[in-house]
Amino acid sequence: IRAHARPLGRTPPARHISSVPTPSDTPRADPADVLRDTFGFDDFRPGQRTIIDTVLAGRDCIGVMPTGAGKSLTYMLPARVLPGTVLVVSPLISLMKDQVDALTDLGFQAAAINSTLDPDEREARLAALRAGEYELVYLAPEALDGWLRRYVAECPISLLVVDEAHCISQWGHDFRPAYRRLRGLRESLGVPVLALTATATRPVAVDIVRQLDMSSPGGYKGSFLRRNLKIGVRKKGQGGNTRKEILALVREHAGSSGIVYCLSRKAV
Ligand code: ADP
Ligand code: MG
Repeated sequence: IRAHARPLGRTPPARHISSVPTPSDTPRADPADVLRDTFGFDDFRPGQRTIIDTVLAGRDCIGVMPTGAGKSLTYMLPARVLPGTVLVVSPLISLMKDQVDALTDLGFQAAAINSTLDPDEREARLAALRAGEYELVYLAPEALDGWLRRYVAECPISLLVVDEAHCISQWGHDFRPAYRRLRGLRESLGVPVLALTATATRPVAVDIVRQLDMSSPGGYKGSFLRRNLKIGVRKKGQGGNTRKEILALVREHAGSSGIVYCLSRKAV
């Protein structure tokens, strides 16, 4: 990631956070205090502080950390500290709902604006977004086509977050065409962008940085070494019997739970 931390051969676009007043004489809350007082955690996990400091300094950033490492905190905490609204692009309505519920429990003003809302509720949330009443708002990438895209550009956004950012890249799994259309959004909002994912190979990371027009991004790549996991690979069709082996494995763990992934429903 560090290797990408230089401009990709073009002048970085001028950054204007026009709609969000940032009075320089107002002291900003200390992230460590917010971590304790708002989230109830004593310590940052690896990488969280690096990403938060980069974002709060107004720089673009890409974070690649395993699932469960605590990527969400790296934009939730800035949402409490920065004036204006953090706009989070998220691929799944169920993910948005989980996050908004958790944030609401923590006392945040947060909402998702998606296709499940009835028109009145949608209207109300859009008005609240415009009025700067939310600390965080979640949107699906598809929602940012056309009209809403122009609308959010008029709202007091402080930071653009692209969660599950590997969806942007055709080199990654879960490629999602609408993520491609995020291109240019960062510039029309005039705010820094934070891209987060658990799965980015080098080409995918390069693609994310390009697609989002990130300029001199900071970055953090977490360790994927997990001592509690054992990984083994066996080749099929060499006299072994996969069904028997799976059955033996299941019996070995009778009474406890586990997951067997399979290629097709039929095989399951
Ligand atoms: P992911 O990186 O997969 O997006 P999440 O952001 O969902 O991970 O976080 C996973 C869990 O870790 C959440 O329950 C979150 O509250 C918890 N968590 C995040 N940061 C910390 C921290 N600094 N100390 C303790 N728990 C944390
Ligand atoms: Mg996550």
